[in-house]
Amino acid sequence: MSDNIIIVGSGVGGATAAKELAHRGKKVTVLEAGGYPKIGTEWRALRYYTGSFWGPGEFSGDGVEILRTFMVGGSSMTTIGNGVRSLQNEFRSVGIKLEEEFLEAETELNITPCPEENMGERTKLLLEASEELGYDMKPMPKYIDYSRCSGCGNCALGCIPGAKWTSRNYLGESYKNGAELKTNHNVIEILHKGDEVRGVKVRTPDGVKELESSCVILAAGGIGTPIILQNSGIDAGSHLFADTFINTFGVIQNADFENELGMATIIDEFHDSEGFILSPYIEGPLDLLTDRISLSNKIRSLNVKKLIGVMAKTRDEPNGKVNADGSFEKPIPEVDQEKIDKGFERSSLLLEAAGADPKSIFRTHIRAAHLGGTAGIGRVIDKEQETEVSGLFVSDCSAFPETPGKPPVLSIIALSKHLAKRLADEVS
Ligand SMILES: Cc1cc2nc3c(=O)[nH]c(=O)nc-3n(C[C@H](O)[C@H](O)[C@H](O)COP(=O)(O)OP(=O)(O)OC[C@H]3O[C@@H](n4cnc5c(N)ncnc54)[C@H](O)[C@@H]3O)c2cc1C
Repeated sequence: MSDNIIIVGSGVGGATAAKELAHRGKKVTVLEAGGYPKIGTEWRALRYYTGSFWGPGEFSGDGVEILRTFMVGGSSMTTIGNGVRSLQNEFRSVGIKLEEEFLEAETELNITPCPEENMGERTKLLLEASEELGYDMKPMPKYIDYSRCSGCGNCALGCIPGAKWTSRNYLGESYKNGAELKTNHNVIEILHKGDEVRGVKVRTPDGVKELESSCVILAAGGIGTPIILQNSGIDAGSHLFADTFINTFGVIQNADFENELGMATIIDEFHDSEGFILSPYIEGPLDLLTDRISLSNKIRSLNVKKLIGVMAKTRDEPNGKVNADGSFEKPIPEVDQEKIDKGFERSSLLLEAAGADPKSIFRTHIRAAHLGGTAGIGRVIDKEQETEVSGLFVSDCSAFPETPGKPPVLSIIALSKHLAKRLADEVS
């Protein structure tokens, strides 16, 4: 295989592969469709979400809002810093053992459970409420340097103090080992001669170009990767999962809450039995204003100092579809609606036990931010993560064989490390 490996996308999967390959002396070029904005103002990453006037996310015809950002670092720039293992057994059952890679990632990202001193007043009230209800609420493991976290609660807008790990940390390490990053390079198509990869066709500020390589790693994310594959004549895009979620809010009349770190704790005891996790969360004002909630609830949510919230994130059916033109479908089958409704019920109980007025409780529309499965192992790629085109690999959330129902970043890193280590031995 060629001496110049092309990686498409600089998010979690792409940056990990770049770091690992460059560290092993391989020549790497990362092509990223987005630019390299500094995340330094109050509006921060909002401009880089792919939504519109109607909200930060894109809506499917089924009314599900999906959230992702286009820029160097991809959606890692806007995570809440939650770092948990998911699908380790499922990967093992298809022949991919990730224990070593998980351990490496946990060390490199310094994943540690959120300390009590970084938990805000709402989280503490919900911890007490959980105890009262007999729920097992635990500190969330996070890739956050708590000593630098300001507790602003705006992780999803990008982290101004730089307390949170992002893919840019790994990219930085890859540059030190000679990797090259080309921004505003939007890959349109994979070039292949028969079943051998030849390179990529990419739209750049200087026009459309063809870049040669006999080894290409696609890491354009759960939506981006299947679009490129389909435009290259490779069947992909089905089995879209999204870990659909709702947030449930209530008002505590005499409260005067400060901002606080979101998702500082987790209840995961219902993950296997009822298909969801619960975690304290308050949305940003734009999310609430653009939510399809009633006007009275919008007005209610303006008083954020009295608002307390819980996210219910489900392990949804992988029943969505990304089309070659970028449109997507994500119907909510009855089985997923039941998980959402049960998550709402348990969230409401928590909020009431924490002191929220039962009459004030409302839920948001369905959103999703863990997009994947669309080039899954066993369907579009084999267990070596290779497509039907030799030399063309996939290493992002689209490669997941199943819905995680939990934050996927750590598993994407582990998977990308696994691929990169193997490729480093194979590529001359
Ligand atoms: C608000 C929010 C909060 C989240 N919080 C968490 C969390 O706390 N913990 C967690 O584990 N997960 C979280 N996630 C999910 C996590 O961010 C994603 O699962 C993860 O970033 C996906 O990694 P990826 O490599 O598949 O794609 P991405 O990280 O999205 O990277 C894809 C990259 O490809 C680029 N790209 C796309 N198309 C092209 C193209 N044609 N040519 C070139 N480049 C292209 C994109 O610009 C992007 O940089 C969150 C997501 C969001 C949106």
